Amino acid sequence: MRFSFITLFRELMECYFQDSILKRAIEEELISIDFHNPRDYSKNRHKKVDAPKIGGGAGMLMTPQPLIDCIRDMKKEDSWVIFVTPAAKRFNQKDAKRLSQKRHLIFVSGRYEGIDERVIEKEADEVLSIGDFILTGGELAALCMTDAIARNIPGVLGNPDSLEEESFENSLLESPAFTKPNIFEGSFVPSEFLKGNHSKISALKKAMAIYRTNYYRPGLKA
Ligand code: SAM
Repeated sequence: MRFSFITLFRELMECYFQDSILKRAIEEELISIDFHNPRDYSKNRHKKVDAPKIGGGAGMLMTPQPLIDCIRDMKKEDSWVIFVTPAAKRFNQKDAKRLSQKRHLIFVSGRYEGIDERVIEKEADEVLSIGDFILTGGELAALCMTDAIARNIPGVLGNPDSLEEESFENSLLESPAFTKPNIFEGSFVPSEFLKGNHSKISALKKAMAIYRTNYYRPGLKA
């Protein structure tokens, strides 16, 4: 699967792929990544990509021409263009799974006070937010979504079973988990976990997952 990133700041993103699971996924050709700078497409003689808002308001917006030319230059028939913005539906685990079926995702990251709305109207297949807060740019949001999507691509995770036990499966948060030692600073691993009765352990995990979900995220929908 191919991930393309339209960004003014590729250096902020590249480092994320230089280690760990996504680095291995690139080496094993399960995913590929590429970066594109709208500034390279600007027809302005100073290569500007921003301008003041029309109608007033603080800050600058990314102008249509460089972005539109950049997107159209790289878009193919099987591409799916995602604009990351706080003014959108919140990305979730279901989206991560759905988008992991695509062949080519193009993430468009805004900067300044965002992007001229006409670019989004003309080019977006989808607009997604990572949460109800404002970042200085879309790069982190695009990386969050890419990471969550990539780990759903077969082969990217060493152990695919990890996906089934995680939070948001069955509309539940994951139950608390423990490792060695059995006693740490006076705190015990729940004794049922040590007895090896798998049906009792999974019943306990389910009960703890329900309790935790009701406490932190009542009404959670995956
Ligand atoms: N003025 C915009 C608003 O209030 O909706 C915020 C612009 S923000 C400073 C600049 C860019 O960061 C946005 O164009 C978007 O690409 C990105 N961004 C900021 N917060 C985000 C979020 N929660 N989810 C996704 N992208 C975000």
